Amino acid sequence: MYTIGVDIGGTSIKAGVVDEKGNITLSLQIPTKNSPNACIESIINLIKELIEKSNLTTNQIKGIGFGFPGMVNSKTGVVDFLPNINGWENIDFSSKIENAFGVKVKITNDANAHTLAEQKYGSAKGANNVVMLTLGTGVGGGVIIDGKLYEGEGSKGTELGHTTLILGGNKCGCGRKGCLEAYVSTTALINQAKEQMLENKDSALWHLCNNNLATLNGKIFFTELNNGDKTAEKVFDKYIIYLSEGLLNFCNIFRPEIIVLGGGISAQGKVLTDKITKYCKDNYYGLTGAPEVKIVTATLSNDAGIIGASALI
Ligand SMILES: [Zn+2]
Repeated sequence: MYTIGVDIGGTSIKAGVVDEKGNITLSLQIPTKNSPNACIESIINLIKELIEKSNLTTNQIKGIGFGFPGMVNSKTGVVDFLPNINGWENIDFSSKIENAFGVKVKITNDANAHTLAEQKYGSAKGANNVVMLTLGTGVGGGVIIDGKLYEGEGSKGTELGHTTLILGGNKCGCGRKGCLEAYVSTTALINQAKEQMLENKDSALWHLCNNNLATLNGKIFFTELNNGDKTAEKVFDKYIIYLSEGLLNFCNIFRPEIIVLGGGISAQGKVLTDKITKYCKDNYYGLTGAPEVKIVTATLSNDAGIIGASALI
């Protein structure tokens, strides 16, 4: 038997057939259409094409899972709101797909799908208690408790990026102040680097930016960090403290076996995890006898959306 995983994004939709070992046997991609109805029609056609090209029948498909970039209710199958795709508000989604294919349909948000993928097949494989944080332009969270994805009431929990790190602190994309996201997203890191560059005109960061602050990006920042630029190091050390303090909260709430970091910044691998591990070790609550939390980076990256969505089935 096979499952199908669909990763819905703001610009493209990726779907894949996944075998029982979690391998993608075939995947296809289409651009995201502008209205929900057109989008759903294109998704149905994409899945039909996928089944046909795989020489399968719907009898061989156990179910179809979807990961959405926004708010969904996994129990009712309704997509509540997608901030980055036009018109997706209160859409009764799962029933439409069920009617088209006659198989089980499950939906969740993309951070939850990534978390599930890492726990089933990636860096947290075999762990029963997992916390994942995705560090991108936003910060997503996923939690697995006793081997099961925990989504909270109405699937609206585990918004780990919007827990308060600094009371009354920097403005967050959600409208509140001081959220973890406002300190550890890629955007936040770049803003922290820009502030420090203005105070350190001799920083090598200025050269790669051609003296134009607006062109600073993550790639330039990490290039100079790895070249040993003192300003970049200062920014990164502070960033590590923000991130570690956020993770310490999750350690103290959940005491997971493992924390997985995903998203663009996680590509730094051990540069990131070694420093965080040390900071957390030095600052845990109840250090004596408390199990140490392993902190690792995600290993599935591009395919995680499809694999995680399929793993909902
Ligand atoms: Zn927020």
